Amino acid sequence: MTHPTGQVTLVGAGPGAPELLTLKAIKAIQMATVLLVDDLVSDDVVAFASPGARIVHVGKRGGCKSTPQAFIQKLMVMAAREGENVVRLKGGDPFIFGRGGEEVEHLQAAGIHVSVVNGITSGLAAVTSLNVPLTHREHAHGVVFVTGHAKPGDDGTDWQLLASTAHSAKLTLVIYMGISGVQRIQNELLYGLPASTPVALIERATLPEQRHTVTTLGQLHATVVRNGIQSPAVMVVGDVVRGMAAAAHSEPGARQAS
Ligand code: SAH
Repeated sequence: MTHPTGQVTLVGAGPGAPELLTLKAIKAIQMATVLLVDDLVSDDVVAFASPGARIVHVGKRGGCKSTPQAFIQKLMVMAAREGENVVRLKGGDPFIFGRGGEEVEHLQAAGIHVSVVNGITSGLAAVTSLNVPLTHREHAHGVVFVTGHAKPGDDGTDWQLLASTAHSAKLTLVIYMGISGVQRIQNELLYGLPASTPVALIERATLPEQRHTVTTLGQLHATVVRNGIQSPAVMVVGDVVRGMAAAAHSEPGARQAS
């Protein structure tokens, strides 16, 4: 449905591989007259845009370090008020660490019609690409998606509490944006989880350059350094990861970090 005053759709672009887009996402991208594209969205996804659409890269590729959130929000409101059909294309799912919630609130407060299309979040796609589940009747009763990077001025995650909860409640931890703070995350998780807890590190999941490695919590920081693991990467902590190396060997597309 189109709106006379324009509208904004937050669209999850998935983890990278264009095959993982939903049909609804493709349709929204094709119908957009303006696309605001985040850094982690691959060019193959942007390629679904109509030839006449205006494409604005609002991440590091846009020229500056990264476009301030307030500016992006202003841009969306302005374009919608001009009657544009705006698609805000975000990596993974817009509501998992994508600041999608803040954008919806801002647009609604400005009286702009907004809708959201889910995408496959990278933390889920990363282990799935290696045939590993996030929950398992024997190993994990639930899963926690958690950020390793708090907003400035925020104390961030209570890793010690999270570790002991994960241990007693058998929860898998999927840590986003954790690579730069990996040493601290390791130290704090060790308060509640054994050093032998398996951890998978998956870099650039579902893209041709995907790499992964399996280590233990006790060796986590050393493994990140040794293998030069870089963002974007997710860390998956918990018993579901046991046996992952074996599973990975039957996965021709996956490269094991040495
Ligand atoms: N909304 C996104 C997450 C945005 S936060 C989603 O649902 O996936 C950015 C973080 O996501 C990165 O620091 C990294 O931890 C993770 N990430 C995004 N794309 C990734 C990919 N292809 N492989 C591994 N991690 C990825």
